[in-house]
Amino acid sequence: WLLVATVAAVLVGMVGGWLLSFARPSAAVVALVGFPGELFLNALKMLVLPLVALSVSSGVLSLSGTGEAMRRVVGGTLGFYAASTLAAVVLGVALVEIIHPGREAVDSARCQSPGAGEATAEMPEQGPTLDPVSRLLGILAQTVPPNLVAAAAETNILGVISFSVFFAVTLQRQGEAARQVVDFVQALEQVFMEMVRVVLLGSPVGIGSLVMAKVMGACDLAGSLRALSLFMVTVLLALAVQGLVILPLIYFALTRRNPLRVLRVFSPAFVSGFGTDSSTAALPVTIECAESLGVPDPVSRFVLPLGATVNMNGTALYEALTVIFIAQAHGVELGLGGTLVVVLTSALAAVGAAAIPSAGLVTMLLVLQAAGLERFSGDIAIIFTVDWFLDRCRTVVNIAGDAFGVCVVQHWTRNLDFGAAR
Ligand code: ASP
Repeated sequence: WLLVATVAAVLVGMVGGWLLSFARPSAAVVALVGFPGELFLNALKMLVLPLVALSVSSGVLSLSGTGEAMRRVVGGTLGFYAASTLAAVVLGVALVEIIHPGREAVDSARCQSPGAGEATAEMPEQGPTLDPVSRLLGILAQTVPPNLVAAAAETNILGVISFSVFFAVTLQRQGEAARQVVDFVQALEQVFMEMVRVVLLGSPVGIGSLVMAKVMGACDLAGSLRALSLFMVTVLLALAVQGLVILPLIYFALTRRNPLRVLRVFSPAFVSGFGTDSSTAALPVTIECAESLGVPDPVSRFVLPLGATVNMNGTALYEALTVIFIAQAHGVELGLGGTLVVVLTSALAAVGAAAIPSAGLVTMLLVLQAAGLERFSGDIAIIFTVDWFLDRCRTVVNIAGDAFGVCVVQHWTRNLDFGAAR
């Protein structure tokens, strides 16, 4: 019932927000409508960091009982994530080349959403040229944060994950001497999952309110839709193909199981991703869905938090597609070399993007720079006018990538004994 109520709330939010936007609501009214949603989002964010640390730790604690299980889970996860990200980027490039949305003139939308200022403010006038190697090193450096508290405060989830893995592996090695600490970590994780369940009871109101406030406050909805319609169609088509065709096909090819079941069981996570606009905020729901599908805890606790952070199929294809669209709109030919640079840097930018709203749009600057297109970075402000919607859709595909990933890893490890697994 929670799923049905939440989907209904999303629909009410979209239609209601659209109708209310004709009354030109003031910023205060929009803030008031969005207030329950803000509280809901805060409550989820409040739980996410301890949940990631505890679930990764307790996943590793259960896994490290058998070295073989550990190897297969880690290897399978990284392999699947790399392959699905690459497939997504290639799909994005192929569709943008075939449809060629850049043939439409893109004039600046008549007004810019408030966030556009933030995006442009972050754009360096003449940023340092970030070659893919420095970019990769920058992302890798995040995995060893110099200050754990700062990493947590900055939501450097990658740093928190690597610390948790290190902690859990070392704890496991202490054997019986540390048994009580292991039990404590696993019990605490259950407490946090229970807190998440309580917060999620508020999802219909929270998500409905978030969506309604966003649609109400969107600036010149019709104008930006007209200006960027073909671009939006291309993005939505690419996201649909990745989520409904490519990922299910990869899953079927690897497991011979019915992918529709995965899509159905994880639908609460998709709705949550659409509403909260963040794979991290939806992570607790994604973990719950995996649980209800019977994925063993040690697998879901390792694969999903990592996936929410680094595996972003929707963001990867969006980055590549949008940068090539910008090149097309300005009549720039990227050629094969330039396109390869876009493919590579888009995959890296998606790995490096935080799983929070519009993070993909900020990391897109790196792709633009790498492709030698930074002089067009002002275009990102125009794309910002529709990004609030596209971001929600790509977040859903990001979560779908993780959902299929966890099911594939479960299939590959189905005959293994997870040692201390609960
Ligand atoms: N909002 C996306 C996510 O949380 C990231 C992005 O901006 O692409 O998965």
